[in-house]
Amino acid sequence: MSERPLCSISLDVDDLWSYMKIRGDQRWVERPSYLPTFLPVALDALEELGLRITFFVVGYDATVESNAQVLESLVARGHEVGNHSFEHESWLHLYSRDQLTEEIIKAENAIAAVTGQRPRGFRGPGYSWSETLLEVLASREYLYDASTLPTYLGPLARAYYFATAGKGISKTPERKTLFGTFRDGLRPVGAYEWALRNGQTLLEIPVTTMPGIKAPFHFSYLLFLARRSEALAFGYLRTALAVCRAAGVEPSFLLHPLDLMGGDEAPALAFFPGMDLPSTRKRGLFRKALEILAEHHTPVTMSAHASAIRARARLARRVPDAATAAASPATAR
Ligand SMILES: [Zn+2]
Repeated sequence: MSERPLCSISLDVDDLWSYMKIRGDQRWVERPSYLPTFLPVALDALEELGLRITFFVVGYDATVESNAQVLESLVARGHEVGNHSFEHESWLHLYSRDQLTEEIIKAENAIAAVTGQRPRGFRGPGYSWSETLLEVLASREYLYDASTLPTYLGPLARAYYFATAGKGISKTPERKTLFGTFRDGLRPVGAYEWALRNGQTLLEIPVTTMPGIKAPFHFSYLLFLARRSEALAFGYLRTALAVCRAAGVEPSFLLHPLDLMGGDEAPALAFFPGMDLPSTRKRGLFRKALEILAEHHTPVTMSAHASAIRARARLARRVPDAATAAASPATAR
């Protein structure tokens, strides 16, 4: 390939309340938010780097008056908005078809109303999904789904999360498969097409893990490594990207709010791994990682990536296996 490979970049706009909800902290019902302060910081950091990315927005947040201006500015400043569900529950695989349809449409309408852009892509909270969810997305003519994380490390991540995220964390049945099962590791790392049993198809762009060993390399993992050694973290990123190029996999790189905010700016989330790093240091690491991504790849939004994939050769097809929820330790989102 003479052209540089693409690399899509997305940020899951997980709010303070949604982290508390996944953790089982009942104070989430007060819906505490950091979006009005976090999003301008993220937008400025991306503008300095000259990047346009996809923000997966939670529908509820789009109904909140105090978020309206900053959510509108995502689209005004050239970014894409995707659908990250309405209520941010990491157990979409337990939802009925009616519940899924309502969840998708409510979020879609709320996001479109505030940003002026109707989402064309979806990512399930905590990487949760089901075949029924894919059918709902396909019937609503979504361009892509981005809910899967092909890694064998999900169960280890869950054990780590429950061991480190503090006492009192809720272990309700919904959280039994939090961060996924070993089956997730069997799915492809690159893009493919879901062949749904109802005859529909849907493009899947997984959160990319390293081809072969399927170790995650999204930014939260890099932060985890950077606490020991920045050279190790960036060496790991460069290696992962080189392996992707060798394997012909165009990466899709995942970001989270806590990648840019330290415990100094989100004290309520101090229990999360990596929150001991100050915000200024995180932002320096963030800039460096995104600069590395752009060394050999052309960074694009998810829908730009999806359209380019669609315009190329026919994709490998895959029938959905039984889905479960997931997320990752330094992610848990
Ligand atoms: Zn999320």
